[in-house]
Amino acid sequence: DYHVANSEANPKYLAILERLGEQKIAGGIPEKVYENHVITQHLIKDDMGLIIGYWFTFEAIEKLGFAEIEHLKKQYLYASLILLVLILLLISLYIFKQLSDKGLSYYRHVLNSASEIIFVTDYSRIIEANQQFFEFYSEFSTLKKFLDKYRCVCDTFEIENGYLQKEMDGEFWIDYVLRRPDKQHKALIIKEGEKQFFQVKVAKIDIYEKPLYSVIMHNITSQELYKQQLEFLSETDTLTGISNRLVFNRTLVQEIQRAHRYNSELALLMFDIDHFKNINDTYGHEVGDQVLVTLCKVIGELLRETDVFCRIGGEEFTVIMPETNLAEATQTAERLRKAIETLPSQTLPTSLTVSFGVVSVTRWENDKTILKRADDALYQAKKNGRNRVEVAENRVITTNE
Ligand code: GH3
Ligand code: MG
Ligand code: MG
Repeated sequence: DYHVANSEANPKYLAILERLGEQKIAGGIPEKVYENHVITQHLIKDDMGLIIGYWFTFEAIEKLGFAEIEHLKKQYLYASLILLVLILLLISLYIFKQLSDKGLSYYRHVLNSASEIIFVTDYSRIIEANQQFFEFYSEFSTLKKFLDKYRCVCDTFEIENGYLQKEMDGEFWIDYVLRRPDKQHKALIIKEGEKQFFQVKVAKIDIYEKPLYSVIMHNITSQELYKQQLEFLSETDTLTGISNRLVFNRTLVQEIQRAHRYNSELALLMFDIDHFKNINDTYGHEVGDQVLVTLCKVIGELLRETDVFCRIGGEEFTVIMPETNLAEATQTAERLRKAIETLPSQTLPTSLTVSFGVVSVTRWENDKTILKRADDALYQAKKNGRNRVEVAENRVITTNE
């Protein structure tokens, strides 16, 4: 049975309730949408808690917080949109990162596959270095470890003339190299006791707020050693190991220029073995060779570091003596002459003597005139009995050349 609780009940609801009652839905579902109404069933219990009946409330669906539903719907839509945008953003970020990582690893691969040492510096410290860098500076596994020991790669450069150093002509080495792009810049590093030569190139990277510099160091050790060997061979007399005529000619010109520029002294000794032909004729050419080697060793030990001792002919020698005046050079010549004359008998197969011409450079002289005067003085020594020192007068002469 149905009892209407509120007397002004809508007859429409009563009709619905009646139809519902016919379907006997009460006592089952607590809430039901029926004929566009939400019907909610509530229990009526007695004191013992037993169900003794039900009461129902009716609410038309369109009245039920429609605006609220719309609002929720909108919020849901906005949230979904925001979520979608976020997802899209994340996806594009991921793709961008993947691409840029790929780009970076591509460049890193190129840098690492280079046989040169390549690094980037911001002027004060290294920012990045390639694999070859760590292969050469093998005691350091990371850049940090390298920087803990050296502030700059230039701190590993040897200080030697003709090679890059931290400061060059008052400029930081990077600026120095940058400003002279046409010059070949070389650095010398000693690694495990061995000389390593590098050709160094620097480029400015000007795409950031602060400029960066890329440095490429190409190892040219084998070429450099080969070049030095060739130079040594082209400048050295193979029999005696002293400098040859080429060095003599070049050094004489340089030293005369220097003496003139700084108004300094310069002397030249020229000497020739007396009757050397006899030694060859008596003992053979090989013994003659040995005599030449011995003579060079003895004389070389008696000269100064700055003296340039050369073999300019078969048994003719010269000594270029910078910062030496005529009197000092004459004394030296005399000392050398005596040393040869008094060589212990076991050193040589026979007695040996040499004749000397001594000359010092005059104000207006060139290499040819000084050479001519030295030669004349030597000729005089031979003419005056050999085993003697003859000093050229300091007079100005002219040659036909
Ligand atoms: P002088 O006192 O006038 O200088 O007499 P000399 O015999 O030394 O002079 P000369 O110019 O007549 O002879 C030089 C000799 O030196 C001739 C040559 O065979 C020899 N000679 C030149 N070069 C070499 C060399 O490399 N080895 C040897 N063993 N002999 C050489
Ligand atoms: Mg001779
Ligand atoms: Mg001679």
